Amino acid sequence: MRSFIDHARTFPARADADGCRLAPLAAGQSPQALFVTCSDSRVVPSLICAARPGELFELRTAGNIIPDYDLDRPSGEAATIEFAARVLGVTDIVVCGHSHCGAVGALVRGDDLTAVPALARWLDTTLDSALDSALDTATGDADTGGPESGGAAAPPRHDADRGTGPDDDPLAAAVQRHVLTQIDRLRAYPAVRARLDDGTLTLHAWYYQVHTGTVLAHRPADGAFTPL
Ligand SMILES: [Zn+2]
Repeated sequence: MRSFIDHARTFPARADADGCRLAPLAAGQSPQALFVTCSDSRVVPSLICAARPGELFELRTAGNIIPDYDLDRPSGEAATIEFAARVLGVTDIVVCGHSHCGAVGALVRGDDLTAVPALARWLDTTLDSALDSALDTATGDADTGGPESGGAAAPPRHDADRGTGPDDDPLAAAVQRHVLTQIDRLRAYPAVRARLDDGTLTLHAWYYQVHTGTVLAHRPADGAFTPL
């Protein structure tokens, strides 16, 4: 923690040396994109995108899960998405999953999460369709459609690590399918749907390899994730 404190203390000077002007930020923010990703420390959106303060609005959750839109169950995630789409007017929303994701891995493997009940509940209660989709993929039952594709089958929860992906992470395909499920959920948010309907918002499904730094993007034309 010592290093973090030292760097925080000297941040104003370092920002100034880097030509990063902080003072204008007092007038407000106008980020171009909302970046939704996992809380995993290996994924650093501003570093990956070279975004400066004020340029990238971030939403981070365990497993980059986007809950279903439900006003009867208020959530910080829904509030953040709504604010970004309706008030900030971001023109792009990125949902970025990543290799070696602990949350998706726990779901695919059916890990015992009794020691982390809040996490277990978060995954179980907000990931129903995503879980099915991820398991479909990990067990080789997924279709190859675009974001609109669903996962209706009910494969066994413990049939893990059989999937294959574009890298050496056996979870890659499951994580990518999981990202597409979150994109589907995002589309159902009224604020997002309105912006999509008027053509002022673009959604991006990304997959980040933590061990190479490579970013793959979903190509709706063929349903594949390929390097940017
Ligand atoms: Zn993760």
